[in-house]
Amino acid sequence: MIDANANILLIYTGGTIGMVENTTGTLEVFDFNHLNGHIPELQRLKFHINTYVFNPPIDSSDITPEYWVRLVRIIEDNYEEHDGFVILHGTDTMAYTASALSFMIENLTKPIVLTGAQLPIGKLRTDAKENLITAMEIAADKDSVGNPIVPEVCIFFQNDLLRGNRSTKINADNFNAFKTYNYPMIGKSGIHIRYDRSHILTPDYSKKTIFHYNMDCGIVILKLFPGISKPIVEAILQSKDIKAVVLETYGSGNAPRLDWFLEIIRDAVKRGIYVVNITQCEIGSVDMQRYETGRELLKAGVISGLDGTVEATVCKLMYLLGNNYSREEIVVRMRIPLVGEITRPDEKDVKEL
Ligand code: ASP
Repeated sequence: MIDANANILLIYTGGTIGMVENTTGTLEVFDFNHLNGHIPELQRLKFHINTYVFNPPIDSSDITPEYWVRLVRIIEDNYEEHDGFVILHGTDTMAYTASALSFMIENLTKPIVLTGAQLPIGKLRTDAKENLITAMEIAADKDSVGNPIVPEVCIFFQNDLLRGNRSTKINADNFNAFKTYNYPMIGKSGIHIRYDRSHILTPDYSKKTIFHYNMDCGIVILKLFPGISKPIVEAILQSKDIKAVVLETYGSGNAPRLDWFLEIIRDAVKRGIYVVNITQCEIGSVDMQRYETGRELLKAGVISGLDGTVEATVCKLMYLLGNNYSREEIVVRMRIPLVGEITRPDEKDVKEL
């Protein structure tokens, strides 16, 4: 039920959603202080809306961890007085921001719903209004005992409510821009908004929410392809600033059994670099026991990233590296879901980890 007394903080960071056509037909960022003028429907929402506007707004391709820190700061400063948060964000890196926030805010007890649009709010066929209004309703939705229905970081886009750290942008053209390949949708809007509560996180309401502000960017994503060359892999892995490598491998976590390649990986692991294996496939999980080509990586000390997205794996490493965990603690935490970002492996697979 939507809480008529709810206070929702609407944070506008930028992106296509906040644009209107000026008199010459060019798209420009609209003044968010005139939000109600552009979306009069917002006035019909029963609850109270406060707004926070990034000035200047940014295209989400310009997002950096500094902006995530800023978002976490805004949320912490406004946490007590608000029941939920809606973040308007460009779609290009929305899945990264959603993933980052999910790790940076520990034991989140309120909804943080990210949304945006493929067509600016000032366009006739825009998807912005529908996305924004439904995201606001989701942020204000409570169960019969007054707890929020979705106390997690999520993305709402064209009818689909998705776990943020499982999401990936999949479409640059259509309205259905996001998908969670390895996790079910947590809600769907139609005539009603239907939630799948069995797949929504339950926080510990007796514990405090903790806000983390350190993200370490000493990470690289290395995507394998047939023909990848030794000098390039070597140059990347020997860069002095590297602390972790997200290795995008084939299939269930396989890599070429080239001596030079495995030697470079072994050497990196020996130098204390975390090498995390995720698959280039959209669906499924890394299982380094399945093929000899995967086993070699396992023997080299590579950590399984299971069925994590590249966005979530990068952000999780940034968070763990940034928060003074020991090597052992990081390795253990990479293998377990902290905020539902990976699927806990079956018992039979645990030996691999
Ligand atoms: N380039 C834009 C951005 O991500 C696209 C969008 O808003 O969807 O900020």
